[in-house]
This record gives sequence, C-alpha cells and structure tokens, in this order.
Amino acid sequence: MDFEDSPEESTFRAKVRMWIDANAPKHLEDELRRTSTIGRLGITSEDPVVASKNWQAKKAVAGYACLQWPVEYGGGGLSAIERVIWQQEEGPYAQLSLMFSIGYGMCGPTLMTWASHETNRRLLPPMATGEEVWCQLFSEPAAGSDLAGLRTRAELADDGSGDWIVNGQKVWTSFAQHARYGMLIARTDPGAPKHKGLTMFFVDMQSPGIEVRPIKQANGQATFNEVFFTDLRVPDANRLGAVGQGWEVSITMLMNERATIGANISTSFEQIFDFVEELETIDGPAIEDRAVRSKLAHWAARASGLKYTAMRSISALSRGETPGPENSIGKLVIATMRQEIAAFALDLQGPAGILDAPDYAPARGWFQANLLRSPAMRIEGGSDEILRNVIGERVLGLPADIRIDKNVPFNEIPTKGAVR
Ligand SMILES: Cc1cc2nc3c(=O)[nH]c(=O)nc-3n(C[C@H](O)[C@H](O)[C@H](O)COP(=O)(O)OP(=O)(O)OC[C@H]3O[C@@H](n4cnc5c(N)ncnc54)[C@H](O)[C@@H]3O)c2cc1C
Repeated sequence: MDFEDSPEESTFRAKVRMWIDANAPKHLEDELRRTSTIGRLGITSEDPVVASKNWQAKKAVAGYACLQWPVEYGGGGLSAIERVIWQQEEGPYAQLSLMFSIGYGMCGPTLMTWASHETNRRLLPPMATGEEVWCQLFSEPAAGSDLAGLRTRAELADDGSGDWIVNGQKVWTSFAQHARYGMLIARTDPGAPKHKGLTMFFVDMQSPGIEVRPIKQANGQATFNEVFFTDLRVPDANRLGAVGQGWEVSITMLMNERATIGANISTSFEQIFDFVEELETIDGPAIEDRAVRSKLAHWAARASGLKYTAMRSISALSRGETPGPENSIGKLVIATMRQEIAAFALDLQGPAGILDAPDYAPARGWFQANLLRSPAMRIEGGSDEILRNVIGERVLGLPADIRIDKNVPFNEIPTKGAVR
C-alpha cells in the first residue's frame, strides 16, 4: 500500500486545488457546509437545480465533470487515480453534483459499454455538462434486491413499426422529476427464466405515456419518485444490447452503481469527535465520560479499518488495476456507522435533538439529517444483506445463496396471484 502521492499525482492535486479556488461558487461554500449532507442539498439562497447545473457545466468545460470519460464524449480523458484526487479535493461543492451522479456514475459507463459510438456522441456530452439529467428505472414495488423479478412489460407494437410499447410501474426513481432520459429495464419474454426475458432501453422522459409522481421523504425533501408507464412507445433504436440481454446490461450498471454510492462519503467519525469534544453534560465534559470514550474508540477502530481498505483500492487504481467486489465493504460499514453515530449524538443532545433546522439544531443539524437519511443508504445500491451475500460469495468464496427460481420460466414462478 502506498500512502503518498507520486510526483505526478501531487502536481495534479495542486492543479485541481488552484482550479477549484479560482472557479468554485465560493458564495455558496458556507451555506453548503451548513445545510447540506448526505442526500440533502439544503441551499436556499439560490435555486439548487440552477446552482448544480452551473457548477457541473463549469467543471465539464475544464474536464472535471466526468474525469475518466473520453474527451470526445465530454469527459476529461483522465485516470482513475486522478478522479480519486478530484473527489478528495472538491469538498462541499461535491454536493452540487448529486443530481447528476446516476448519469455520470452509472448510465454513462453503461452506454459506453453497450451503445454505438454515434449514440454516445449524441447522449454523453449533454449528460457530462449536466444539461440533461438521467435516472435509473430499475426497482419496482415487487422487485428491488430481486431485480430480475420485475414485471414492467415491453411488447413489440403490432403496427410493424418495430417500436416497443411499455406498461408498468417503477418506484424509488431518484431525480426522475428532473430527468430528460432514463435507463429502463423491462420484461420482453415472460415465458423465459426470469433473468433471460429482460431487455434494456433508454427512454425520453418527456414522452407521452410517462407519469412521474414525487414521494415526500422523512427529511422533507422529495428526491425519489414513482414512475408509471401507460402505452409508452419506445423506438427499437433505444434498445441497449440484444432482446433478452437486459440482465447482462443491468450488471454493467449495477457494478458501476456500487462504485458510485459511498465513494467519498465520510463515516461521520470526525463530526462526532468534534461534537463530543465541545459538549458539556450535567456530569462534566462529554469527552471525559468513559461510555462516550469507549464508543469513540470503537468507531475510531472501524474508521481506520475503512480508511486503509479504501487506501488499498486507491493504491490498486494508482497501479492501473481495477478494485473488485471487496469495494462492497465500504458502503456497508459507512452506512451503518453513520446511523449508529447519528443515534448516539441525538441521545447526547437530549431534548435539543428534536430540532433539525441547521440554523438552530446542535452541530447544525448534521446528526438529525443523518439519522433520517442513513437508513436509505443501507438500502440503496444493494441492501446490507445483499452486500453481505456479495462479500460472502465473491470475496470469501462461501457457498452461494439458494436460488430456486433461477431456471423456471418467469410466468410459471408461483406468486400470490400477481398479474404477469
Ligand atoms: C435512497 C435510495 C435511492 C434509490 N434510488 C433508486 C433509483 O434511482 N432507481 C432504482 O431503480 N432504484 C432505486 N432505489 C431502490 C433500491 O435499489 C432498492 O430499494 C433496493 O435494491 C432494495 O430493494 P427493495 O426496496 O425492494 O427491498 P427488498 O428487496 O424487498 O428487501 C427487503 C428486505 O429483505 C432483505 N433481502 C432481500 N433479499 C435478500 C436475500 N437474498 N438475502 C437476505 N436478505 C434479503 C433486504 O436486505 C431487505 O432488508 C433506491 C433506494 C434508496 C433507498
């Protein structure tokens, strides 16, 4: 493991710092630090969508929006380690990229693997600049961890046009209300085993036949949506991969999703340490309390384990290697730690813990925001249990989970009367 920047990496880091210093929206820095944390972009002095789009467009011109993408697709043509350095330096401004993360982190790399050069030339540059937001139309009310159990249908139109007609429903679709395009997986052959009868498309979210209904969350924001399709017409030219190859395409997207979620998200250890250091309780300074110190020691050990696991991946990237499924450990540990730390901080805050407005709440409401958002992080991009399965099967080589319906035609899998 190598902890130091190479001379080239250190030159790049200095260049990035200078660029951020000269170009970042500094008038928003304090507000971003005060109001924004995981899953919450709390700025009110400017329209958050406009502020996000402005920062994304500025980064794209300099090649810092999608650092590893080829320049001809709107990227920076840079290396994986340069992307890591950028992430380490972007600081609070990274919050402004949240609504583009599904596009540049997941849909973009999937298009680059499965779409033609012409399609990529058309779709990727406006995705990189943030002009066109993308969403992921995968999960359904009865298909999340078991994504291959999805029921949204795509059938060939009977007018000979070659178009597909889509009917069904998705749920949890982050940023669909801002999206111009969505990556949609649908069932095209219900008679095939569940993983084999699926096909992937990209759809224009402004098409007739799509209805987006935002869902109000516990933290007051509405980033997720339900999306309904009623006779949505999708041209065959929007298909990615062959008919029936959707599962393979979705794996490309899910591998990128696991690398995107959790990247550059802290454990909250620094915040709880700072908070406790300042806190006075009726029994004296909280930092001198044995129970508090024991908790801090426990989290310090876990934070160090995570830091060095991440360093191992970063060293691999620096050598031009691709980190493997061991990356799943990061999100699993970070999300649980953030939830535990938030709950503990609120216990220490006593009655003040019920305040959550950043201007009034202790520690600017950081822990309140985390308490409401960290459970979602334990689910998104693979729940804790699914990640444990991945680690068990693919890292530790343990026997695989039992999958009894793998080779059964989808329309013969027993259900509780659901319509296929
Ligand atoms: C913040 C957030 C953003 C999201 N954004 C999107 C998005 O933009 N687009 C999109 O398509 N989806 C999105 N999702 C959906 C997400 O992918 C699913 O919620 C997730 O895959 C879990 O599926 P589920 O909610 O249906 O839970 P289920 O799959 O029904 O799981 C319920 C419980 O059962 C457990 N479980 C399930 N299978 C197993 C198993 N084999 N072994 C052990 N335990 C198991 C799970 O761990 C969980 O505890 C988002 C979710 C969240 C929380």
